[in-house]
Amino acid sequence: MKKPMSLRLRLTLLCAALLTLCCLLLTLTNNLSAVQMAHSVQAVPLLPAQTAEADAHTDFPMASLEISETVRQARGIFHLQSLLAMAAVLAAGLFLIYRLVGKVLAPLDELAGQIRGRTAEDLERPLAVPDSGDEVAELARAFNQMSGRLNQVFVMQKNFSHNAAHEFRTPLAVLKTRIGLFRKKRDFRPEAVQDFLQIMEGEVDRLSAMVSSLLELTNLEQMERGERLSAEQLIQGAADELALPVAERQISVLVDVSPCTLTGNERLLHRAVFNLLENAVKYSPTGGSVHVAGRQADGVFRMEVTDQGPGIPTELRQQIFEPFFRVDDARSRQQGGAGLGLALVRAIAEVHGGAVRVEEAPSGGSRFLLELPMGPGRPDA
Ligand code: ADP
Repeated sequence: MKKPMSLRLRLTLLCAALLTLCCLLLTLTNNLSAVQMAHSVQAVPLLPAQTAEADAHTDFPMASLEISETVRQARGIFHLQSLLAMAAVLAAGLFLIYRLVGKVLAPLDELAGQIRGRTAEDLERPLAVPDSGDEVAELARAFNQMSGRLNQVFVMQKNFSHNAAHEFRTPLAVLKTRIGLFRKKRDFRPEAVQDFLQIMEGEVDRLSAMVSSLLELTNLEQMERGERLSAEQLIQGAADELALPVAERQISVLVDVSPCTLTGNERLLHRAVFNLLENAVKYSPTGGSVHVAGRQADGVFRMEVTDQGPGIPTELRQQIFEPFFRVDDARSRQQGGAGLGLALVRAIAEVHGGAVRVEEAPSGGSRFLLELPMGPGRPDA
């Protein structure tokens, strides 16, 4: 492949072309006017002062011939001198341009050197921004902003992998210990085998739920989001699926949704609504009540899920939507949660152009608000 020309060389060549053009034009006009002047000089009969006697023998044509020869020589010398001057000006100009362009581009070279030395580990250390206030300073600032954002993503990914590994380790450790115990005890009574299988099944279910949540989290962008669906059916369907825990814990669930059609991915939206309802039921006290309301206003569908649970401390109301975050780690784990439910709700809402947040319910519990635009959502949807 042809080696690309450096910016310095390109700028120098461009300036050189311009300078050459200017010099050529200047030399040409100078020479033209000089020739014109020579013609005018020649046209004037410059005669030496003559006496009356000499007047009789004056040889006019000879004098005029001499003059035109002198003018011709002078013209030749002028042409040569102006060409030499042009060449000298061009050479000096090119040298100066090359040096000056190098000087102007030096901060860019320095910036490139700093950037070249960066690795994923020191992305958070900003580049030194020159106080010139020019485009180079602007470039350095833009690079710092970009590397700041990249650093955030790297840190998030690192935390995500760390937390995911940690989450997988717990059920795997339980499985390993149980298998070891079973092998050691060699208790093959049907009840013992049944117990063992039940524990195995529980942990395997937990692992597979985590894997599907993780897969869903990473594949959201690729999912089709153009289905038309009824908000009432979506919410009622999710509430019906929770009939068993609701009955077990004697929780009353009140669903009040006005008729409205949503556009999106049915499976994903069902998952988001289900997760919010499941949490409301899971964290409600036995005998408590959960209220689900859905209204449409200003082109947005708003769903509210209000419970009588412990509520979420104000300072954690953003963090609970991060993957693997739990307010009460031990309690949530005990209830089988992997801390991915709300992260999925947020990701699903965002991929549909909506949002989710939590506030304190008047009863002291939590109120989750899910907002979804009624149109096709995000432009790429
Ligand atoms: P989990 O699967 O652990 O429930 P989630 O992502 O659904 O994970 O929720 C994250 C954390 O937010 C939970 O561990 C819990 O501490 C808190 N949380 C979620 N919903 C509620 C709620 N309705 N009431 C109180 N706390 C909640």
